[in-house]
Amino acid sequence: MITRVAVETGFIELLTRLIAESDGGDPPIQRTGKDLTCSEPTLGKWLDDCDFPFLMETLALPDDVFCQQFPGIRLSQEDRKAFAGLLEKHSTECARCHAQKTEAIEWAMRVDKAFAENKQTIGDLLINADEI
Ligand SMILES: [Zn+2]
Repeated sequence: MITRVAVETGFIELLTRLIAESDGGDPPIQRTGKDLTCSEPTLGKWLDDCDFPFLMETLALPDDVFCQQFPGIRLSQEDRKAFAGLLEKHSTECARCHAQKTEAIEWAMRVDKAFAENKQTIGDLLINADEI
């Protein structure tokens, strides 16, 4: 019997394989900056805990969508824009967070590429997952 967990695990394994295969001649992502110290750990923690592109997209959501998605967080669009600006500025000034951001963006591009190149396979898997 295939459980939901097994389906999800299978999907993650497939995605990992597709990303690895689609890398082709791309060099492995270098994990640089891990031995450096963040100059502002309060801001750096955000970049440690959240994927940078996702964090920026989330902070840039229109007010109505943000409030719907995160009803417990009372931040105006201006507050979020200012916070995104702080994170952006910090990630250019702090060597550790700059490396972290670069790595996150590179990873997001590889995931997008793997999805784009394997739409049919991923779509088939998702359709089949619904039937279980
Ligand atoms: Zn930092």
